[in-house]
Amino acid sequence: MQVYLLPVLNDNYIFLLHNPDTNTAIVVDPAIAPPVKAKLAELGADLIAIFNTHHHWDHIGGNQELLEAFPNLVIYGGALDQGRIPHQQVFLNGGDRLDFNGTFGNNPAEVFFIPGHTIAHIGYYFPNSGDLFCGDTLFGGGCGRLFEGTPAQMLNSLQTLAQLPDLTKVWCAHEYTLNNLKFALTVDSQNIALQQRLTAATALRAINQPTIPSTIGLEKQTNPFLGGDRPEIQAKVGFTDPVRVFTKLRRLKDLY
Ligand code: ZN
Ligand code: FE
Repeated sequence: MQVYLLPVLNDNYIFLLHNPDTNTAIVVDPAIAPPVKAKLAELGADLIAIFNTHHHWDHIGGNQELLEAFPNLVIYGGALDQGRIPHQQVFLNGGDRLDFNGTFGNNPAEVFFIPGHTIAHIGYYFPNSGDLFCGDTLFGGGCGRLFEGTPAQMLNSLQTLAQLPDLTKVWCAHEYTLNNLKFALTVDSQNIALQQRLTAATALRAINQPTIPSTIGLEKQTNPFLGGDRPEIQAKVGFTDPVRVFTKLRRLKDLY
């Protein structure tokens, strides 16, 4: 499976997953349709599915136009997003497994229920290739804002993703890494891996290159929202209880 990263709007990423053997494609969170259609035309590929992680407009805005262009495609989203995702046909729960009846090759996807940013948010994980599409849940060096869910829900979702193999590629839906890492340094200043990551991310953004994908291993080392057991972070926020640490970190980031 080849993953194409399409930068759109201010800081969104759309991901086009292409299987060269079957010449079929899946698109994750199409904010808009035109760049997706252009890439599909270039590949000459058929779009068989839209994977929506949650209902926000910058993740579903291209659904209708893509469905018009590829009337046979199937639109997937979370069960709790019923009524909020345009033209949604499949309502997924955590633990569901998608194999597309082989039309996407031997590369099934597993569904993770990861609420917090919204109450219905899901992620898609391809165990064979080690690719995770986590929408606005886990970001490079950070996590999504809590629009609907509770801190405990979001922390649980992040910890679920952190259990994936260290080499898992993390394809998140926004380029927020640089700002996230700058915030992270304010609460975890002695973390060498974090300092190195900020240097590397700064260099990439200076030449307009994406910092995505990161990996689960790198996030565990450098993302403060997964670092609730680090002494410096606990000292900075004044708590040791994981939910209290997370709640305080999220509030500090909201104000940063
Ligand atoms: Zn969102
Ligand atoms: Fe978003």
